[in-house]
Amino acid sequence: MSNSVKRLVNSAIALIFILSVSFLILILFSNIQSDFKSLIIVFIVSLMTVCIVFYWLMSKQVNIILEGLSETIQNMINDSPMNTFSELDDMMLSKIQYQIMKLSDILKSQSKKEKLEKEKITALISDISHQLRTPLSNLNMYNNLLFDNSLSEVKKNEFLKNMQSQIEKLNWLMEALIKMSRLETGLIDLKCQRIPILQTLLQAVNMVAPKAEKKSIDITFKGDESIRVNHDTKWTQEAMFNILDNAVKYSPENTVISLFLEKYELFCRIDISDEGSGIAEPDINKIFTRFYRGDNTNYIEGVGIGLFLSREIIAEQGGYIKVKSNLGKGSTFSVFLPVE
Ligand code: ADP
Repeated sequence: MSNSVKRLVNSAIALIFILSVSFLILILFSNIQSDFKSLIIVFIVSLMTVCIVFYWLMSKQVNIILEGLSETIQNMINDSPMNTFSELDDMMLSKIQYQIMKLSDILKSQSKKEKLEKEKITALISDISHQLRTPLSNLNMYNNLLFDNSLSEVKKNEFLKNMQSQIEKLNWLMEALIKMSRLETGLIDLKCQRIPILQTLLQAVNMVAPKAEKKSIDITFKGDESIRVNHDTKWTQEAMFNILDNAVKYSPENTVISLFLEKYELFCRIDISDEGSGIAEPDINKIFTRFYRGDNTNYIEGVGIGLFLSREIIAEQGGYIKVKSNLGKGSTFSVFLPVE
């Protein structure tokens, strides 16, 4: 029964009740024939009884509904959702029940999301403090050593050089962390344009070219030059740069890095292959985790964030990265980006 109908029935009952009482008083004090008077009184009293019973039944029904709703809410609080009202019972009640359940689901998923975010931030803070500790303690150690007046010039220069490399590491770490936190907190506003992906790839190549030249590493290209992909040039360039930079870092001198572009129906594939150290099969899944560095990388610059960032950037654009590697022979990183 809708609210307005209920209100109307309630008012009608109240009106009939008041009229009956007034009429009863009038009859009692009037000088109508006593037989006729009794008949009217019986009729009025019956009418009042019907009103009272009807009102009592209605209040009972309302109570049952309120108790049912309260039970539904209590079930939700106790995390044991079950239907109090059957869908066939009452359309309005099952609709309210469905809405309450939906609201509870929304609230639950929101709190789950907040919990995950909190865990992510806690993990990030612990990772950062762990990563900062080593260069800071190294700097502290070299700084203390430099106070020793008896140190030779050669030793002093060596320590200063070591300090310089630790400072560079800290700088690099800070930059990577800022980028990473912007990605993780969703501050990155992707500005996608449908332009040839080769253009973005070549910009990344230009960034690693001086380093590759120093190691006499050639960078070659094959494939479809005209593929247009809807992507954010700045961030995609960053993702490709990290992969290319690794290809240079983990390859010996006088080797080749080959780039290959191919278009499929939904995705565009960008292959970056090197003839470097390769990655052992069990490590392939680990290389994308934050701060993971392979064995034997101690003397190679890096902090283990590059691939993590690349994967996040590509995933943010609906793509993914695949790796094939042969230990000691080289690796191929395939970046897949949706064409549209
Ligand atoms: P970083 O290079 O700073 O260590 P990355 O996240 O870029 O961090 O890479 C993680 C790890 O993956 C590296 O430490 C290295 O062991 C491995 N790796 C990445 N790219 C290559 C590659 N092209 N060849 C060999 N190993 C690689």
